[in-house]
Amino acid sequence: MRTVYVNGEYVPENEATVSIFDRGFLFADGVYEVTTVVDGKLIGFAGHMERLQRSLSELKMNVDIDPDELLEIHRELVKRNDLDQGMIYLQVTRGAPDDRDFAFPPEGTEPTIVLFTQVKQVIGTSVETKGLKVISVEDLRWGRRDIKTVQLLYPSLAKMEAKARGADDAWMVQDGFVTEGTSNNAYIVKDGKIITRDLSTDILHGITRKSVLACAKLLQMDVEERPFTLEEAWNADEAFATSASGFTNPIVEIDGKKIGTGKPGPVGDRLRALYIEENRKSAI
Ligand code: PMP
Repeated sequence: MRTVYVNGEYVPENEATVSIFDRGFLFADGVYEVTTVVDGKLIGFAGHMERLQRSLSELKMNVDIDPDELLEIHRELVKRNDLDQGMIYLQVTRGAPDDRDFAFPPEGTEPTIVLFTQVKQVIGTSVETKGLKVISVEDLRWGRRDIKTVQLLYPSLAKMEAKARGADDAWMVQDGFVTEGTSNNAYIVKDGKIITRDLSTDILHGITRKSVLACAKLLQMDVEERPFTLEEAWNADEAFATSASGFTNPIVEIDGKKIGTGKPGPVGDRLRALYIEENRKSAI
């Protein structure tokens, strides 16, 4: 059984409780981060904490969280759960007032802070060699996708739609242009150039995206940050997706159409290798 963290306490997972009045439960009024653990160490931790602060501030959640304290909690959970490879999930909500009300809770209401570990093999996965199949779906999410809220119903529905159609994931499309995957950023490669949507409120600003683009620079690869159409994706030489726990995952099929050779491509493979090398070195 896992040991989890809830509001200052480390408890067995079956003893962890949150109020039914919690704003996260009633209004999806919460934000989250997922940090990957490799060799028992945290990947990209500073970036995740910066984005957490930004999400909190965009939602006007006045939560005073010390990143050093959060680092200690992450490390303690790794230790207590003997985690070598996997993730740490962190969620902060606007807390639990006495009743349900659209208005924010009174000043001084404590936020709810929950962290738990998840075991997952992240290095040497079968996806690396086989790749993923995606379908395209309309992007029906709200307009502030740059904030990492726990409002994940639409991506969850899209993921299930993909599975029902024999695929692994969905890429969401708005006005003919791909925004991102259900839980990852989307890329195509054409004539040696990597194309990925530019940062805006339309997509989550992936921590992995930033690091992978830095790796692309180190490898002197060409990168174009701009929206690309679904048609461009179907006709790309290669496609891949990035996320904290997936690193870079090859996309070998979109809407039943083979991408390039239908096998993981060399650009994604090289980026994945360098990403893992660099991030293992800087893990804390
Ligand atoms: N886009 C969405 C919608 C996501 O949910 C995620 C993963 N949380 C990402 C992109 C990738 O972000 P990161 O690299 O920080 O995991």
